[in-house]
Amino acid sequence: MHEYNLVEDLLGRVAEIARERGATSVHSVHVRLGELSGVEPTLFRMAYETFRERTLCANAELIIEPAAAIWHCPICNRIFNAGEILRCCNIPARLTSGDDLILQRVELDIP
Ligand SMILES: [Zn+2]
Repeated sequence: MHEYNLVEDLLGRVAEIARERGATSVHSVHVRLGELSGVEPTLFRMAYETFRERTLCANAELIIEPAAAIWHCPICNRIFNAGEILRCCNIPARLTSGDDLILQRVELDIP
């Protein structure tokens, strides 16, 4: 499942950050989840609960912050409002952000 791979990647990156800073465990993990990322938040959380056991994240809370998609016109750079027709300067709008999963913040327990 897509979400399981993403969680494995995420836990790997968090572990790397924790090691670099000499943390003994992770307190919380904050991610931004774009609405067009194709990631189902419920599945993502389930995958996290499964994989975090016996990692530095075993007791870390997962905080998922949803991020709306943002579109812009590649010609005039206008940013579209929600619900607008995604077309400007006679061409289709381009996605600025909202199709990705971003690790935003990690709170570490550093002795
Ligand atoms: Zn335009």
